Amino acid sequence: ILLFGGLIGLVVAVAAGYYLANRALVPIRLSLEKQQQFVSDASHELRTPLSVIQVHSELLLRHPDHTIEQDSKLISNVLQEAKRMSKLVSGLLTLARSDSNQLELERKPVQFDRIVQECVGKMQMLAEIKGILMHAEVESPIPMVADEERLQQLLVTVLDNAIKYTPDDGVVRVVCRKFAHSAQLEIEDTGIGISPEDLPRVFDRFYRGDKSRTRQEGGTGLGLAIAKWVVERHGGKIRLESKRSNGTRVYITLPL
Ligand code: ADP
Repeated sequence: ILLFGGLIGLVVAVAAGYYLANRALVPIRLSLEKQQQFVSDASHELRTPLSVIQVHSELLLRHPDHTIEQDSKLISNVLQEAKRMSKLVSGLLTLARSDSNQLELERKPVQFDRIVQECVGKMQMLAEIKGILMHAEVESPIPMVADEERLQQLLVTVLDNAIKYTPDDGVVRVVCRKFAHSAQLEIEDTGIGISPEDLPRVFDRFYRGDKSRTRQEGGTGLGLAIAKWVVERHGGKIRLESKRSNGTRVYITLPL
């Protein structure tokens, strides 16, 4: 009986040990799978502009008989794809560094209202080219301790999306208010909106609602993933509300 009891005890101990070790390994396995997926998505995304650059450069070399217009078109495509690659690589670097906690915020006392006004000013020209009306209502002053460069990156991404995904003659409205402990920013557009299936995934890396459209607009699918990292690293929150064809509203809350 003693021997039998001992054997059962041993089997139970081994099974429990196996179960616990497996449970402890689950987060490591998931993180490895995520990392592998990230590398595979990144390679895939880099391959497309690379192959365009390769094919167009070969065409340039093999056709000395091309007219200046034909050559200019090819060179401009090569340049456009090289710019896309450069944007992708810097986005990838930011995310890779943030994953390994190598990216620290450089917090300093800043005026959030000034940063918002400056970014709106910077994007105004882009909006005007598309005939989009952009207006901002910004409460002042909003002092906060934050990383100015990262906040600019966040604002430019969200404003750029609002302009990119809004057809000509649309409207982009920016409202920024100060509360007791936080600043709240709303960026609303009258653009194409996001379908309910896409909405939960817009913060995923490389996720793009309409791949061909965002490629055409120079999108990388990394903008909102980085924006979320910036907001959360500051202890804030970001969320989107949208309906297909009914515009999009981005809500950002940042602690002061
Ligand atoms: P991208 O570089 O493709 O714009 P983002 O990460 O910035 O990548 O955004 C992810 C996706 O979310 C976009 O491809 C687009 O489908 C959707 N999206 C983001 N902002 C808006 C917006 N203001 N209006 C409509 N769709 C948007």
